[in-house]
Amino acid sequence: MSHDNFGRNVVLQPKVRYTPENDAEVLEILNRHQGEQIRSVGRLHSWSRVLESEGVLLDLRKMNHVRCLDESADHRVEVGAGCQIKRLLSEMSSQKNWTLPSVGFITEQTIAGAIATGTHGSGRNTLSHYVLSLRIAHYDVETGRAVIRTISAGEELLAVRCSLGCSGVILQVTMLARPAYQVEECFREYEVLSSVLAAEKKYPLQQFYFLPWRWTFFAQHRREVESTSSWTLMLYQLYRFLAFDISLHLLILFLVRLLRSPTAIRNVFRCVIPLTVIRGWGVTGPSNTQLVMEHELFRCVETEIFVRRDQLPSALEYVREVLQCLGSSHGGTSRFLSMVSQAGCDSLLQQLRGQYCHHYPICVRRVLSDETLISPACPDDSTAATSSDDWYAMTFTNYHRGKARQPFDALAEFLTVSMGRLFRARPHWGKICPDNLSETRRLYPRMQQFVKICQRIDPDGAFRNRWMSSLFEEG
Ligand SMILES: Cc1cc2nc3c(=O)[nH]c(=O)nc-3n(C[C@H](O)[C@H](O)[C@H](O)COP(=O)(O)OP(=O)(O)OC[C@H]3O[C@@H](n4cnc5c(N)ncnc54)[C@H](O)[C@@H]3O)c2cc1C
Repeated sequence: MSHDNFGRNVVLQPKVRYTPENDAEVLEILNRHQGEQIRSVGRLHSWSRVLESEGVLLDLRKMNHVRCLDESADHRVEVGAGCQIKRLLSEMSSQKNWTLPSVGFITEQTIAGAIATGTHGSGRNTLSHYVLSLRIAHYDVETGRAVIRTISAGEELLAVRCSLGCSGVILQVTMLARPAYQVEECFREYEVLSSVLAAEKKYPLQQFYFLPWRWTFFAQHRREVESTSSWTLMLYQLYRFLAFDISLHLLILFLVRLLRSPTAIRNVFRCVIPLTVIRGWGVTGPSNTQLVMEHELFRCVETEIFVRRDQLPSALEYVREVLQCLGSSHGGTSRFLSMVSQAGCDSLLQQLRGQYCHHYPICVRRVLSDETLISPACPDDSTAATSSDDWYAMTFTNYHRGKARQPFDALAEFLTVSMGRLFRARPHWGKICPDNLSETRRLYPRMQQFVKICQRIDPDGAFRNRWMSSLFEEG
């Protein structure tokens, strides 16, 4: 039995797969497979080896209830682990006109899957940060029998908020919610990064795209507003759908899969794609639609790298030089080459030179510092978070298929490894990550606490996969 993930870059080969309908069935399955490897999955929208499974696969799609709780001053929502975010948003909207504090590009993921890897949007924390309590099933250390417990406080909560599926089977999540809100958005192009970042004060929810081969910044300015939806909202949504979700992707697929010409890719990014962006058209609409796009329509793979705000300018300059060396005849400035050498990645750069022409805008999103142990946006030291601890996630997207994707995989390894060494940059757990995590673990000051908590909950490592062993072993 084998299953592909969304990007078809990870194959799961479980011996058996279950779709339990309730807690009792989960307990029964765990007891039946005591001593075996157990992996729970959501909608397989991760691109990393976090999904690898050789034993028992649990898919909790049937456990998807949604209940808005208003007995406390806070807005809270209780949701079954396998509920897709799109269903959660629609239920919250119809039950109470509530929504989530943040969403990513898409809403296909399940809530348990999204929090397990630190899924995020822009200008807020990752979804993991908003988890108030979790019900998990795991094996009792004394009896070895499956049990259910609720975790709602302390370091254990910080650990299980983002746990890569290593802390047992998540059955139910209680999240912070909020009343539905409106978002105004408009696009602008900038020559320099400092101008984009300066606009954050006015547009705290903004994200921006660093356009390869043109090397300018297209900001998608966004802010929460009180006003009602613009009369042009439907027209704007149609424009965004046709121009970006469809036409841009068809053009990229044509360039990458049919034409296969680096010169054409560079020219289209320099001169054609910028023409499709209408600058300065400000439109207001509900957050649930404004913040989301249809990124799932065309199959792709991604890697994503988080850097701290103070590192962002030099990290983007580094990225630009890497992509220029790989996709053109650029030799690299002496500063860049000495950085590559400092990272011990000279020979990998030599191998990759001229091998890969990047073909997608690099999306950069600001993610506030999380209260978790290992989400990619958790603080870089164990002191309390401050605004300078905000993170910026840079996303690299690729539309090659099969063997043609190998240079991108090598680029992902090059960027995650070299930027980890140079900038203490962290890879997104759900996107292509290094094969060996022993260096990645050092980027998390509280990794040791995370490992201890997982070992306490799951001493036999039933809920880990082989890839994760390098996280749990002292390197
Ligand atoms: C088109 C596309 C767009 C994306 N956009 C964004 C984005 O904007 N922002 C962002 O941050 N990420 C984004 N991602 C990445 C995605 O959000 C994450 O990889 C997410 O983890 C996938 O959720 P899933 O439900 O498919 O879970 P899966 O990929 O199936 O699983 C992810 C992890 O969750 C664990 N898990 C799942 N269910 C359970 C459970 N019940 N109990 C315990 N562990 C469980 C799994 O073991 C695994 O470790 C995108 C992915 C795609 C394909």
